[in-house]
Amino acid sequence: MAYGIYVHIPFCRKKCAYCDFPSQAGTKVQMADYTAALCQEMRERGPEIAAYGPAATAYIGGGTPTALPISLLSRVLLTLKAVVPFSPEAEVTVEVNPGTVDLEYLTALHTLGVTRLSVGAQSFEERFLARIGRIHTVQGIRDTVRWARAAGFTDVGLDLMYGLPGQTIEDVRRSVETAMDLAPTHISVYGLTVEEGTPFAAEEAAGTLDLPTEEETEAMYDYLTDILPRCGFVRYEIANFARPGFMSRHNFSYWTDVPYVGFGAAAHGYWDGRRTANEPDAARYIAVIKRGESPAREEEPPTRKHRMEEFCFLALRTVRGIDRRQFAAAFGCSLESIYSTVVQQLAAQGLVETSEGYIRLTKRGMKFGNVAFRAFLLDEDV
Ligand code: SF4
Repeated sequence: MAYGIYVHIPFCRKKCAYCDFPSQAGTKVQMADYTAALCQEMRERGPEIAAYGPAATAYIGGGTPTALPISLLSRVLLTLKAVVPFSPEAEVTVEVNPGTVDLEYLTALHTLGVTRLSVGAQSFEERFLARIGRIHTVQGIRDTVRWARAAGFTDVGLDLMYGLPGQTIEDVRRSVETAMDLAPTHISVYGLTVEEGTPFAAEEAAGTLDLPTEEETEAMYDYLTDILPRCGFVRYEIANFARPGFMSRHNFSYWTDVPYVGFGAAAHGYWDGRRTANEPDAARYIAVIKRGESPAREEEPPTRKHRMEEFCFLALRTVRGIDRRQFAAAFGCSLESIYSTVVQQLAAQGLVETSEGYIRLTKRGMKFGNVAFRAFLLDEDV
């Protein structure tokens, strides 16, 4: 059975102004305790998972995994590989934030079998990096990519943000041009959203958050989704673009109903058809593991209606779209028997297109994805 593994590292050097992810600045002791707990969780669940055969992908995310000293992140990777077999062509990604690594650190990751780096660049202008509270500089991004290449990595992706306070489409254009100079294999683009409880939410409430207008943000999105394919990147999901052959297989599996195991605080899993969420608080996670208990809380078993909706939402995020045969195999009925009116209406609005095997969002549908996703919500149990 193909499956993936997600490992969460909940530490960051400093909290960014827009971030509501489960992460915190950690002391050396907390990081060491967390690593010990994480490795214990892996060792305890390893045999059950290994029984399903080799893992196809692993993704070490956060937070900032590279906020851990390399000695601790090495222990995480070595433990993972010791308890779970990996297929020879497995994709192993580590999220890297500039300002937390050097050549030696990245060389160690490469030696440990990491195949792919996802670099949180976000912008190539100092004033935006400072405005959103990132710890790094533009030179820091350049150095990180240079060291990654020198360490032996051929697959290096960049994350870019748009819709930042004070940002114009010209700024986004300049960031993309600079990004292209670094020849990334993958680009993820994220529009800023103001999340409750963040410094940006407080600024918004005080009327001091100078966000671009909706039209300006939309123009940035249009620019990005237009220019990246022209630069040779294939769009394979709403927010993800890759050079041919460099799609993130791990992320793609989330959208295509592939099981995955989650290790660490706040990690989610999808295994044996059940969804689980680990204790989100890092200190409580450590305490739970120390007591010898499982940190996983099983989520309410989803209804059939819920599973169908989720199956469609996730698959629609990809350019491949909903696989009719996979839907029929999962639910024992055809997609048309449930969604024929919805598909016809969305097709009439130019939001989806259909082929024999798939139903997918058009380019316009990707832009107005929320309209399409809402249409896939079912009124009653099926
Ligand atoms: S580096 Fe990422 S996870 Fe950490 S605070 Fe910033 S946005 Fe959040």
